[in-house]
Amino acid sequence: CFITFEGGEGAGKSTQIERLRRRLEALSQSVVVTREPGGSPDAERIRAFILEGRAKALGPFAEALLFAAARIDHIDNVIVPALRRGTHVLCDRFADSTRAYQGALGNLDGALIDSLERITLKGVKPDLTFILDLPAEVGLGRAGRRRGEGEGADRFEGEDLSFHQALRQAYLAIARAFPERCVVIHADRPAEEVEDIIWNALSERLPR
Ligand code: C5P
Repeated sequence: CFITFEGGEGAGKSTQIERLRRRLEALSQSVVVTREPGGSPDAERIRAFILEGRAKALGPFAEALLFAAARIDHIDNVIVPALRRGTHVLCDRFADSTRAYQGALGNLDGALIDSLERITLKGVKPDLTFILDLPAEVGLGRAGRRRGEGEGADRFEGEDLSFHQALRQAYLAIARAFPERCVVIHADRPAEEVEDIIWNALSERLPR
């Protein structure tokens, strides 16, 4: 099945994806781990362009189109082929990131995001979306530490507490809008606990 992980930076998405991958593989299930923006060679090139800060000057709409272009390539070349083979796909961010970042925070119109999503996804949608939820202060602290490490440093100037508060609210609104696939998990707790909650939610929602 197709499982996406969403949340602000530093919410622990990649840690939890790795833990879930191990658990599924221990049951002899095949798993592909991937991410957005990126996930396929061409989409990774678009990711680099965006995270170098070069898309910012184009404005939020053009930036959203670049995310969409990367997503189309990723869906066609990685996600759909894997799902067709019966492989689970665990994806670090997906279309909900566009809803949150370009939509809620970039002030792009909701109807526009809806149509862009319809054109881009062509019916491919996650079976389950884990939203790793953190208090804004914690997200800001973790993001700040990570920014020092490089990627995205240019793109993210000016993000502050109110940005992280709005991001959190955007994700909670997405969870309310799509309750059939979204599970919100309080992520400011030990990774082992988050891992168990994810595992239980998965077992409950998608009985094998
Ligand atoms: O998840 P990761 O930190 O690798 O994502 C890179 C950054 O790209 C995120 O920190 C996020 O701020 C940004 N992003 C975005 N719009 C998206 C997806 C990611 O602004 N649709």
